[in-house]
Amino acid sequence: MGSLSVKGLVARYGKTVALHGIDLELPDGEFFVILGPSGAGKTTTLKSIAGLVDQVEGEVRIAGRDMTGVEPYDRGVAMAFESYALYPQKTVEENLASPLRSGRNGTWTPQQQAERIKQVTTTLGIDHLLKRFPRELSNGQRQRTALGRVLVRPAEVYLLDEPLSHLDAKLRAAMRAELKQLGELSGTTTLYVTHDYQEALALGDRIGVLREGRLVQVGTPAQVWNEPVDTFVARALGQPEMNLLDAEVSGGEARVGKAFTVGAPVADGRVQVGIRPRDLEIVDQAPSTERLVLHGKVVLAERLGRSVELSVDVAGVQIITVTSDHRVQEGGDVALAVDWDRVHVFSADGARLGAARRPEGVLTGGAR
Ligand code: ATP
Repeated sequence: MGSLSVKGLVARYGKTVALHGIDLELPDGEFFVILGPSGAGKTTTLKSIAGLVDQVEGEVRIAGRDMTGVEPYDRGVAMAFESYALYPQKTVEENLASPLRSGRNGTWTPQQQAERIKQVTTTLGIDHLLKRFPRELSNGQRQRTALGRVLVRPAEVYLLDEPLSHLDAKLRAAMRAELKQLGELSGTTTLYVTHDYQEALALGDRIGVLREGRLVQVGTPAQVWNEPVDTFVARALGQPEMNLLDAEVSGGEARVGKAFTVGAPVADGRVQVGIRPRDLEIVDQAPSTERLVLHGKVVLAERLGRSVELSVDVAGVQIITVTSDHRVQEGGDVALAVDWDRVHVFSADGARLGAARRPEGVLTGGAR
């Protein structure tokens, strides 16, 4: 077990610069999630730390040890790739035992091996498959076995690349909880990459949001959720995405078309007002000065399992919200309420300026 320190990490593939200077400090035992869209450089970050990218600059320290010139197998990392590699002619049990037999991971008695394999496979829900061969497994079971091959060996740092990507939604959700427990059990520093924001929020002690080879925000799940540094981070977290509405500020008040006005943290100019669909609540009772209340008409109601996604026209401005109230009908009137501090104000080019507040002298937010 050990800390992970990365300073000014630059990675290139020929002329392509994949990472533009990544800085990371993970204390011993932290579970850190890198969240980013396809092509952002997530896999490259892990590979660079593992010593698998040729053109790298910067400093990587694992458990305080400088990794410059250290071979991948000698770095004390265990890495799981999205594409799983298993020995086809070996059973699940033999696949998991082989990392423990290689000698690099210490000397394990057969009983210690069996206990470790039992512990890991129980957590991963594959302890009943130990005698099966990979060809006799589903894709999800294969992925869990591949993950088991990584987690079974002791390491200073685990590097996990979308290890749940091949699982169905239900299993993913179950595994998320299990995985966190396993991390806590062994207390091993883990760098985990995903493009799934729910996974990041559920698993990360901290999250780093990666965009085009740069970490644009690092913080706890609450920090990145509540105070996204810009509209990119705001939209990377949450489904449906945050509503971003053009507004004009004058005298410290931002007017969103003819729909509504909020107090803005700037005096004038153009801004974007952001509201997460799930922060809007359908209310019967309005008006209220405690919250911003918007009155509109439902133009589209799309049922998504237990919830309904609504597109609401508020005086010509389209706003998305989500409700569990299945009585809401297309064409019906609706009042939506949101806490003032859940309304975000971003500059025209996307940087977060702060939370909105109740505008001066306005008794009711919202337009009819
Ligand atoms: P995904 O979620 O799709 O796996 P990612 O965030 O892991 O994406 P990377 O695979 O790290 O992204 O790729 C980062 C950038 O580096 C991309 O622009 C990609 O095209 C480029 N890249 C990755 N591997 C290579 C390679 N072997 N040769 C050239 N360019 C590469």
